[in-house]
Amino acid sequence: MTPPPLHCPRCDRPVEGFGGCRSCAAEGIGVNAMPPLADLTGLDLAGYPGGPWGLPAALPVPGPPVTLGEGNAPNIRLRQDPDGGRDGGGHGARRARPAGELWLKYEGGNPTGSHKDRAMAVGVAAALACGADTVVAASSGNAGAAAAAYAARAGLRCVVFTTEAVPAGLRAQIDALGAERVVHRGTVPERNAAMARAVEEFGWYPLTSFSAPSPGGNRYANEGYKSVAYELARDFAGRRIDTVVVPTSRADLLAGIGRGFRELAGAGLIAREPRLVAAEPAAAAPYTAALRHGERGEQERTRVASRPTVAFSLGEERPCWQGLDALWRSGGTACAVDDEVIMAEHRRLAAEGLLLEPSSAVAAAVARELPVAPGAVVVAIGTATGLKGMGG
Ligand SMILES: [Zn+2]
Repeated sequence: MTPPPLHCPRCDRPVEGFGGCRSCAAEGIGVNAMPPLADLTGLDLAGYPGGPWGLPAALPVPGPPVTLGEGNAPNIRLRQDPDGGRDGGGHGARRARPAGELWLKYEGGNPTGSHKDRAMAVGVAAALACGADTVVAASSGNAGAAAAAYAARAGLRCVVFTTEAVPAGLRAQIDALGAERVVHRGTVPERNAAMARAVEEFGWYPLTSFSAPSPGGNRYANEGYKSVAYELARDFAGRRIDTVVVPTSRADLLAGIGRGFRELAGAGLIAREPRLVAAEPAAAAPYTAALRHGERGEQERTRVASRPTVAFSLGEERPCWQGLDALWRSGGTACAVDDEVIMAEHRRLAAEGLLLEPSSAVAAAVARELPVAPGAVVVAIGTATGLKGMGG
């Protein structure tokens, strides 16, 4: 099977290479190439076993599958105390009990502890399919660990460009999985240039992006995120999911979930697509800033200054276009919360037995603030375990 042709979803031009659409990039807008949507007509959703490889026909990669059993992350109903469970409780006016149901889809249950496994299972299979012997990822977060694990599974060499800011637990995980970790002390453009050279000169297969403006991650790998939507539709069959809240940086996960729901709606498997909400740390919130502009043309060209945040996995200055597109199509929005609220939610989830990394608590924190209709189901995606940030 030859991979399907890729087009820019914004200007519809064909796109080759890994840098996204060059025409749109020349306008300062990062847009990823996209394979065609899959046709899910006739799918028996109840029989879908979960994960990206549970539905290989929906993937633009021929296989063989590279899998460690990713997917099928559990849905856990969160407590919704009227006082919010915030530190110190409160004697003041108690907030009304939310009428909707708040659920967390806990992606920390994946093999390397994050949602990135869904993408890397597909991205490494794409690398194998094109005959690569080495994969490369630039990551200061969970993508590096997932790339290392799936490359090991496939017998490929893996090189991970990181910064000095990587938490010790994550560093140890990448090392133990046998990846070559290169600590790049330069700026992000310098790191990107180093990765571009490796891709061009050595033929290493890139699992993350290395151009500016960033178009988002590897477009084949990102198709693995559609499985989050398939699983939600299967698990909440008979109930209507009103809203899905997604921690957002380059919007790979957000856009992938949006594509999954579009495919499901296109095949008549769900009545309507849920509203998508991008949850961002206030210190780096390009989507929240973008949606404050009235015109889509201004929204596309938004640029913000990002500051360091406890949500270290998140932090982009410009929105990737397909993330905006996912919000527009679903009638969604973007919300930013500051570090104090993120850490309070991190502690609140831990008090319920759920240890998530702060970046992953962002979605639950935003979800609690959304106005929701009585009986409606809201799902926050909890992207990663908090274990990797432990140990200094
Ligand atoms: Zn374009």
